[in-house]
Amino acid sequence: MHETSIALSILAAVEDVFRSTPGARRVEKIRIRVGMLSLVDPEALRFALSVVSRDTPAENAEVEIETVRPRFRCPHCGYEWEVGDEDVKRIADDPMLATLVHIHPDVVVKYLRCPRCGSTDVEIVEGKGVVLHSVVIETDEEKG
Ligand SMILES: [Zn+2]
Repeated sequence: MHETSIALSILAAVEDVFRSTPGARRVEKIRIRVGMLSLVDPEALRFALSVVSRDTPAENAEVEIETVRPRFRCPHCGYEWEVGDEDVKRIADDPMLATLVHIHPDVVVKYLRCPRCGSTDVEIVEGKGVVLHSVVIETDEEKG
């Protein structure tokens, strides 16, 4: 369900690029960055995208999904750090925490502490949400 709504918003953004490209024929490739904190299943997203793109210029486009590891920042001392696989796994394995983060990724910071100064004021730099990274459009010009 969640993946379908994300796929629809990605498709809308892809179609915007398509419409603003002169001589656009079809969408060749879609690159997406999936933040680990979004807990979006990349394969479910890929499937949802193939379903919602039927009968659109993005039908049969190649979909590349890159997983983005979360990065956090402490506003007090300016320290920035990445979360390790074990922390991500700990969140994913806790059903209540995983559901919370899935709905509202910002809650994860309540479970974190700055490794340098111990502050509990932690900001998410990246790793939440799903972002359309780039779109490759096949145009008339390329085909001659
Ligand atoms: Zn700090």
